[in-house]
Amino acid sequence: MTSLPQKEPIISVGLLEDAPSISFDLAGEFKLDGAGVGEGAYRAYADGKQLCLVNQADTPIHHSRTLHLVPLAQENTFFSIRDVKIGKQFHWERLCNQMFSGELCLFTASAKKITAINKILLESYLESVISSEMSPENPVEFLKAHCICSRSWLLHQLNEKSAEGPAGHRTDYRAGEIISWTGREAHKNFDVCADDHCQRYQGIGRINGAAKRAVQETRGEVLTHNGQVCDTRYSKCCGGITENFSTAWEDEDIVYLTSITDAGSSSAPVSREEDARRFILSQPAAYCNIKDKNIIKRILPDFDCETRDFFRWTVDISQQDISALVFSKTGVDFGAIKDIVPLARGASGRLFKIKLCGTKQEKIIGKELEIRRILSPTHLLSSAFVVEPRGVKGELPDGFRITGAGWGHGVGLCQIGAAGMAEHGTTYREILSHYFKGAQLTTLY
Ligand SMILES: [Zn+2]
Ligand SMILES: [Zn+2]
Repeated sequence: MTSLPQKEPIISVGLLEDAPSISFDLAGEFKLDGAGVGEGAYRAYADGKQLCLVNQADTPIHHSRTLHLVPLAQENTFFSIRDVKIGKQFHWERLCNQMFSGELCLFTASAKKITAINKILLESYLESVISSEMSPENPVEFLKAHCICSRSWLLHQLNEKSAEGPAGHRTDYRAGEIISWTGREAHKNFDVCADDHCQRYQGIGRINGAAKRAVQETRGEVLTHNGQVCDTRYSKCCGGITENFSTAWEDEDIVYLTSITDAGSSSAPVSREEDARRFILSQPAAYCNIKDKNIIKRILPDFDCETRDFFRWTVDISQQDISALVFSKTGVDFGAIKDIVPLARGASGRLFKIKLCGTKQEKIIGKELEIRRILSPTHLLSSAFVVEPRGVKGELPDGFRITGAGWGHGVGLCQIGAAGMAEHGTTYREILSHYFKGAQLTTLY
């Protein structure tokens, strides 16, 4: 059975979830339950099971269980929300004021809490995603490849949502293992969130001409495999070799999400410990090994440029910090940390199982995101790393040096690598067939 959509869908993007209230501004005329709502500042809060909308003078103007604010015109009609949190729990977390086109829908999913959703046509959503994820200085062939990736990923999500995929998995802490990953079904009340968890969607304020053109020139185009839209994952920098799907998510092999060498010639996977160590401690030639800081500046949006040295990186962590960190992240008292032992790696060298050995207990931890989360106040850039104990006195080291490769899960398209390829004149079709082997381009609408 094929499930390919034939016309552009309207999607729902979660902007805020479970907030006590929401303050927003309307520009242009909107409609609410048949009545007009004019420009100005508004606030909505949950009043029992109802939502109450008040105007700038704090006068209630509407009560109902849900609020659907529909713009009356396409042009110059938008809403803006103050202090939206972006990059949640990552090192680039910050508050932004953001503007959105399309409908604003508010409802209470839990008592006295408001969820805000933006309903918008898929292609308009994409214009913002491409502008939020990447800089307009990028070569247009790269932006086009990214459009197809972002569009395919989203349509695949919508399809999965109706098919009820697995929601993630966590084993019993007492069994000596903490193995967890976040499944595809993380959002109950909307299709996608607006943050890095799904795709960055930072409203219309960021939209630029280059992203708009890339979206328009690839309208409706997706990658498919066996009659289904592909689950086109992507991350910032693979580190030289891309990763298999199962290192980060469920134990499933997906043909087009199989590891490849991110270079002109292919090399062997580095899942064996000695191969991973040699690879991570070297500087292999790769499309994402870009030394020229000016090219990096062109590729990444400003706030990502604050992250330096992501192809190969080093983090030092003291004994005191790591034992406190591990306790706060897992709720398990390991005591002082004696060792971090690599147990299982994927094809790119990314760890998906480690053994954390403390003076009080030891446990096996996985998969890749959980390892990154537990060993850093935010997240380590990637789980492709080697650990070196520092200043060992007796059985306890003073701390650890973590040397790693890449940024992100490394599965699917490598954003820096793809941009690097386009810098050298590679077309979007060639870029996509490099990262997603066996997938084909299909125009849906
Ligand atoms: Zn999400
Ligand atoms: Zn790469």
